[in-house]
This record gives sequence, C-alpha cells and structure tokens, in this order.
Amino acid sequence: MNSPFFTNARRLRRHRASFAVAGMLAIFFVALDLRADEPYARSRDYDLQHSRIALRFDLDQKKVIGDVTHSLTILRDSISKIVLDSAGLTIQSVTVNKSAAKFETKDDKLIIPLTTAAHAGEKFDVTIRYEAKPTKGLYFILPDKDYPDRPSQIWTQGESEDTRYYLPTYDYPNDRLTTETILTVPASWITVANGKLINVSEAANAMKTWTWKESVPSSTYLITVVAGEFQEVKDSWRGIPVTYYAPKGRGDRLSINYSRTPQMIELFSKKLGVDYPWEKYAQSMVDDFVAGGMENSSATTNTSNSLQHPKLAPEFLTGQDDLISHELGHQWFGDLVTCKDWGDIWLNEGFATFMEFVWTESHFGKDQADYERWQSAHQWMEEANLYSKPIVRHDFNDSGEFDGNAYTKGGWVLYMLRHQLGEDAFYRGLKHYLEVNRGKNVVTADFAKAVEEATHTNVDQFFSQWLYGAGAPKFDLSYKYDDAKHEVALTVKQTQKVEGRVGLFRIPTEVEITTASGPKLFPITISNEKDTAIFTFPADSTPLMVLFDKGGHVLKSADFHKEKKEWLYQLKNATELADRADAISALGKLKGDDEVVAALNNALLNDKAWGIRANAADALGQLGGSAVSKQLLDALNTAKEPWVRNRIVSALANFKDDPAIVAKLTSIAGDNNSYRARVAALQALGRLKAPGALATLEAAVAADSPDGFLRNAALRSLGPLGDDKAVPLLLQWSAAGKPIDSRNAAISSLARLQKDNKEITNQIAAYLGESHFPIRMASIFALGARGDASAVPALEALLKSDDLSIEMVPMIKRQIASLKSPAGEKRHQHGEASGDDEESSASSAANDQGAVAKRLDRLEHLMQEMADRLKTIETRLPSAKQ
Ligand SMILES: [Zn+2]
Repeated sequence: MNSPFFTNARRLRRHRASFAVAGMLAIFFVALDLRADEPYARSRDYDLQHSRIALRFDLDQKKVIGDVTHSLTILRDSISKIVLDSAGLTIQSVTVNKSAAKFETKDDKLIIPLTTAAHAGEKFDVTIRYEAKPTKGLYFILPDKDYPDRPSQIWTQGESEDTRYYLPTYDYPNDRLTTETILTVPASWITVANGKLINVSEAANAMKTWTWKESVPSSTYLITVVAGEFQEVKDSWRGIPVTYYAPKGRGDRLSINYSRTPQMIELFSKKLGVDYPWEKYAQSMVDDFVAGGMENSSATTNTSNSLQHPKLAPEFLTGQDDLISHELGHQWFGDLVTCKDWGDIWLNEGFATFMEFVWTESHFGKDQADYERWQSAHQWMEEANLYSKPIVRHDFNDSGEFDGNAYTKGGWVLYMLRHQLGEDAFYRGLKHYLEVNRGKNVVTADFAKAVEEATHTNVDQFFSQWLYGAGAPKFDLSYKYDDAKHEVALTVKQTQKVEGRVGLFRIPTEVEITTASGPKLFPITISNEKDTAIFTFPADSTPLMVLFDKGGHVLKSADFHKEKKEWLYQLKNATELADRADAISALGKLKGDDEVVAALNNALLNDKAWGIRANAADALGQLGGSAVSKQLLDALNTAKEPWVRNRIVSALANFKDDPAIVAKLTSIAGDNNSYRARVAALQALGRLKAPGALATLEAAVAADSPDGFLRNAALRSLGPLGDDKAVPLLLQWSAAGKPIDSRNAAISSLARLQKDNKEITNQIAAYLGESHFPIRMASIFALGARGDASAVPALEALLKSDDLSIEMVPMIKRQIASLKSPAGEKRHQHGEASGDDEESSASSAANDQGAVAKRLDRLEHLMQEMADRLKTIETRLPSAKQ
C-alpha cells in the first residue's frame, strides 16, 4: 500500500514511503495502540481454491448483500468444522455441497460444523448468503445534502485484515485462490474487479450485472471491488488491457497523470525478466480513499488526489509516478509473490519502494534517484523508533508492521544489495526469486536462498545485519596526511550504540582520494569486529578531497571532520550528487562566513542537479543575513523549475522583519507563473507573521485557482499567521458544503486561533459527527492541537459511536490523552520533528511552550509542503503506516 496524508493511522501508513517522501511522513508517525494484525501465519485446515463472489448493494442503507461460494480442499485429517473470518456480517444461510448446513458466528468467525469429519483431500463447496453494513473493508461514498453532485462510489480496502468485514473468507495472506466477481449495480455505473471482464448483462430494475474472472491465484487481502459513476480511459501494453478510472467529471485528468503506465510495465517486465503476470492492469482512482494506493491484483485502487489538475501537473517533476510505480511494482512483489505473514511485509513494501526507485532512475535520471535516496537516508536515520527495530520482526504490535523500516529501509536494503552484487547479478537474483516462488507465499529466507542460487554469492551476513538486525552504521571519520610517507591515514569509527538488535556493521565501500594529480578510488571493507579501524592509502600530495562511501551507497550517517576549504572543494568538484549534498549540509552549519555564502550561492545558481540547487537554497535560508536574502531574491530571477523556485521562496521565510522580503513574497503570492511558488509565498508570509499578510492571504482565499490550490494554502497559512481577525473567514470555509480540502485547511488553522473561544472549539467538535472521513480526521487533530480540554467529552462521545469508519480509535484516544495532560505529553503526540531548530535549555514552562510552538510551526510547514505534493500522492494527514 501507499499511505495517505490525512487519513488515519494504520490504513494510512500502509502505503507509501517512497524514497522521496518517506521521512516527511515519518515525522508524523506516532505509536499507536491498534487492534493487532496477526503477526504469524496461521496453520491451515483447508486450501481455499476458488471463490465466486456475487454482490449487490442497498445504497440507501449502505448495505452489501452477498452470495459467495467457496471451493476448498481439506488439508488435514479429522477436520470437523470449516472456520471462516467474518466480522459484522449477518449470515442468512449456509450450504455445504448444496445441502443446508448449520453454522454459528462467534468472535469474528463463521463456524460451519461438518456432518462427518473430513479427511485431507476432500473437496467442499460452501455457499454463504449474507448481508452487512460494513464499518471497514467496503466503503460507500455517496452524494449527500452537503455534496449533492458528488459521484457515487463503492470501493474496498482489504489489507491487512479487513476483507472479512464485507466477505466471509479466509482472511490471511497465506492462502491463494482464483475469483469470479459478479457485481449488480445501477445500469449507468462502471465496475472494476480482479481479472478479466467476462460479461456485462442487463438485470432487473435498470441494473446491470458485471462478471469478472481472475484466473491467477492471489491472497484474499488483494480482492477488490470498485463500482460507481466513473469515467474510463483505455490503454494497453503488449495487447493486455491497461485502464484508468476517474470519478465522473474528472476523466480528463487521467491521461496527464497516468499515461506513463505502459512504459513502466515494459521497464519492470524487462528489468525483472518476468513479464507482467496478470490479465489486465486497471487503476481506479476513488474519493476519500483510506490509503494512498492499494495494489489489488491486476486492479490497483488509488486516491483520487492523484488526479492532479492539468494546470498543476506540469509543476511537479515526477508527477504521480512514485505512487504509480509503487503499486505497479507490487503486482510482482506482493501479488505474484506474497509475504507469508505480516512480519515479512518488507518483501512487499520494501520491494515496491525499490521499484519506485528503478522507475525514477530510468525515467528521470540518476541525479533524481540519488537525490531522493539521499533525502530518505537522512530522514530515516533521524527516526529513533525505527532505528532500534529490525525490518523482519513479529513483535510489531506497538507501532504496526507498515512502518518506515518495511518501506524506506527495505528499499534501501535492496539498493545496497544491487550495489554490492552489481546490476546483472542482482536482477538474476530477483528473476530467480520470482520464478521459483511465483504464486507462492514467501519469507525472507526464500529471497536469500534465491539470490544465492542465482549468483553463487552468500548473502547471509548481509541479511543478518540489515534485515534481522536493527539500525545502520553511524560513522565518525577523520584523516591525517603524512607528508613524509605520502600516505593518508583514515580513521573510521562506528559510533552507534551497540545494544539490543543494533550491532557493528561489516561494510564494503569505497574511499576516493583526490590530490592535485587527480582522483584515486580505493575499495575497503569495514569490519564488524571492532568499532574503530585505521585505513592507509598512498597519496602523492596533500588531498584536496577525501570521500568516504563515494556516492553515498550505504545507509548510514557520517560525521566527517573536514576543514571548510575541503567542503568548499567538495561542493564544487564532487561528481556524485550525494557528496555535494553532504558538503552543503556541512557548510550550512558555518554561520557568518562570506566564502561559504558565496559557495552556496554558486551551487544555487549553477549546480547541474536541481536537488543540489534546492538544498543550497535551504542552507542559505538557514544561514540568514542580508547578503543571503539578496542572493535568494536574485536567484528567483533565474531559477526556472517550479520545484526549485518554491524552495527558494520557502527559504525566504527565514528572514523576519525584512520589508523587502515581505514585499517580494506579497508580489509572488499575487502574481507569478508558478502556482507552487505562489503557494510557497503564502506559506512564508504566514510563517513570518508578516504585517499586512492577512490581506494577501484573504485575497488568495478569494482568488480562483485550479482545485483551489491557492485558497487551500492561504487558509492553511492563516493559522501560523496567528491573526484572530481571520476567524470569521475560516469558519466560513470550514462549513459543510465547501470543498473538503478547503475545509481541512480551515479547520487546521482554526485550531490555532482564539484559543479561549469555546465557540470555535464547539464548532470543530461538531464536525466530528460528519460522515466525511477527511473532515473527521482534520477535526480530531485540530481539537488535539487546540488544547481546549472542553473538547474531551465530544471526543469521548465519538469513541463510543459505532460508525468509526476506520480505525480512528487510537488517534482519538491520543488527542484525549493530550488534552488531559500537560505540555510534555502533547509534544510527544505530535511526533518528533527532529528538533534541530530548538536550543536545549532549562526547561522552564516558557521554554517548553516555545519549543512546542516551534515544533508546531515546523509541523505546519511540513503539512503545507505535503499539501503541496499531496495533490500528488499521499494526501491527507500522515500518520503512520507508510
Ligand atoms: Zn505498498
């Protein structure tokens, strides 16, 4: 899966953690106490082989009416009952081999006693008639009084264990079956399910019946149903149907966002040496989706936020490609070959994350791929709660299995394996893994074995430290040049605390030493036997540059003690993006140095990689000073790409009390050819609490822009601006009937204004009762952030309601806990925003509050950046499961 933004926790987290945005989301990860998914695969009594699933819907009641026949084979002797997962379903009748059968429901199980004990190999057809008003698993998105024009949609989300809420079945990954899905819906609707479309026929009462058949077996969490008022675009790859679906009215957005899909299918088929394995590939974009995307076999479901407006799409370099390539990658890793249990979920998510990287590298080039990788490594290293846990683990109930280890670190592990084995051997390993395990459930050892069989390279130690062990190396590095011996002595110290599952790492890597006569590369291997080692290398003169792990191919952090002139040289001359990015990070800490500012400005203007230019803008912004602000303003005159311009504009938000900056930001906000630059300017004005900004933000709220892009940014910036005069406008835009994204933004800003005004608290609390999931989530978070304990009863009442459409419970509990407890707790619950901008000092209450405020600012800023990207991928509030 791919995780969304404002959605709730576990669903949310699930999907997404691309190299590009993982860290940003990770900041919001919070530990949640959720109903645990089963960590270990069950022992099976039967093998579900085929399910014929016929569904109808009562739209007024939001009810599903089902008739399912499972064909199964008993796996062991003396089986006296067949037990299926069934949560909240009203079972009307059961037949076994067409004879009426007894049944009982208990603890989310449907138990069907057999008249005589069955033996291994016996086959049964079990037919169940049932109905349900699902609270999870299957969702009705329908027009209502506030949104009468909204297109009707029904969609499902099975992963991890929610299929049982709309279908009695074996609801764990370690069984695979073929399906026939028969959907009777209004005649004007379109449906999408797994596999091939077999037939569409007229049915009574102006309905039609659609029959889909999936002949390649897969797990029940990958079963999908999408039905509603959709528009379709048809494409193809090597004769296989490739289709895209948008809610009615947005069909014109499909091609601009999705048309690279066949190219991706071709790339992945070639790279993996295993052709795309399903009979079709559909992508359905649905409203209010509970994840960013979900890789149902042959029929992915994505959030409709990925249908970016055609006027905005060109401003996002990689568009929706992270999401599209992630879910497509799952069609091999996750769907064709499936993790046996959730403890091995990285075999799904790490691989899908890696496939994003494969597409990025191929389509957008090495610099883009390297930049995303560099960012993701830094973000992951800051996540202390991820660091201490291994990727493969079965004790994930504390924080859920869909975490940044399964995604970000999992993707990194595959990248490192590719780097160590080499491209050819690595893909030989993947091909063998897919071929041997095709149609099977796998554990991590299956992958290790396949790699070894295909490459004759033993990867046990690599797997041991990176997958079964936790953490990553933290290096302290320094070197001395011995003029007499013409030798560089490099001291490499691993400084990570060796405890729990974190050990010392054995790392093969490369050191490059550049002198006046040129660069020389030296392979070394760092031992896991002692924490410090000294490596010596010949060098004909004093080095101009020493690079450790040239190109940044190891997941690590490194504190390399170098002089300023070395960093300056590195920024200018290093050939690999990661080494120049490291130089910017080091130089960005040297305040008040004209030479540094000049070098960063040179990088901002001239580096060939946009990511380096953008990082230079960030670093300059943090250094501050009047020379810098002028340089940033000048750079705006030459920087062309929207993804660089918006970073330069954001950097201007560091210059407080500078009328020239405010004037420039105001001008950009009002009129610029880049919507992203305008949004960044609105955000910067809010963060700067600039005098006069209220009028600018109000004008932006009133302005017309694609999908309200400017309006939403302006509404969201009114909170940080902190001017209570904005309250009436925010109340107006938070009201039912306004666009959902605008309401989200307004509600989040209301949380920060007139904090003693109970009416605002009451208004936000009233939104808790709405059926629109994003509004509920925004309101839950807003009440927590607002800090008004009078909201506690409303939140507690919400907890008791029986229509919490997804697992919001832990989020609500957390807000209640924070409202009932002092500031320290509150900080915890907002997730740790790395804290780099807060000085540690005596913890007086004032300081504490200041720190909280800073964190909130930072969080707000990140939310805005996400909101920016969001139209693209994850939308909604980041919570946890990537
Ligand atoms: Zn995924």
